Amino acid sequence: MKTEMEKTPLIANLVSVQTTTRCTLRCKKCSCSFPLFNPPVDSDVRLIKRSIGRLFNVFSYIHEIRIAGAEAFLYPHVIEVIEETAKHRKKFGYINIVTNATYVPKSEILQSMANLNCPVLVRIDNYGELSGKLTELRAVLGEHKIDYEVRNNCEHNYFCGGWIDFGTEYEDKHYSASELKKLFFNCRNRTECKTVWDGVLYACGFIAAGHKLLKCPVAARDCVDLLNTDNEAAIQKVKDFDKYPLLGCAYCNGFDPVNSPRIPAAEQM
Ligand code: SF4
Ligand code: SF4
Repeated sequence: MKTEMEKTPLIANLVSVQTTTRCTLRCKKCSCSFPLFNPPVDSDVRLIKRSIGRLFNVFSYIHEIRIAGAEAFLYPHVIEVIEETAKHRKKFGYINIVTNATYVPKSEILQSMANLNCPVLVRIDNYGELSGKLTELRAVLGEHKIDYEVRNNCEHNYFCGGWIDFGTEYEDKHYSASELKKLFFNCRNRTECKTVWDGVLYACGFIAAGHKLLKCPVAARDCVDLLNTDNEAAIQKVKDFDKYPLLGCAYCNGFDPVNSPRIPAAEQM
């Protein structure tokens, strides 16, 4: 029988499932510092599949479930991850995959996405000259009748007004308690950046990457070990994620949609 906590539905706008840190670009200000993973790391596909099952036990509904990289299309088992996610189609709105248009997915990946019985959206970040496969990518997605949208990150037409520098050097900023609260409660990622990585659901992808790089501490209350926590405890922890600043926020510049300074997108190392 479900407990009172489990009966209250837990709904998320967006949850990312991390697959690989491989990428074709090396952006200086990559929000998850993926270029610093050297060599790149592929997560264990069995762990990812078990995590997806647990995720849909804990959440009653997720509007957007993102199969995330760096470049998720480079993950060798991306088809398995997509198809595993699709099995839970009544519990999410759509599957999203983000790509930088430097790469055209293999035909078997496109075919797999085309055959899904659930909505899937490829979000293409257009970085101008860097995104050399944009035209080809649009063409093959069109041929396979796979929905896509293009976000312009080019000069004069920045999506979201430009990139944010989250602070990828992960230095402790020594904020006062009130500064930290302000940073956190004004941060767009407070509710929009939950990330599952190697079986652990992190409240924010920035701290997940920092934790993996051993550059940023993560408090026990800021993450949930999905495979070793019962539903009631997991639901309670996730409900508390957005109530207090995360320990790792001290290492971050935050993402205030209005006031955070914007920087040029995708400057390469
Ligand atoms: S394209 Fe740039 S920002 Fe995107 S994952 Fe790769 S390195 Fe990071
Ligand atoms: S301020 Fe905190 S919640 Fe916002 S991006 Fe940084 S670490 Fe994540």
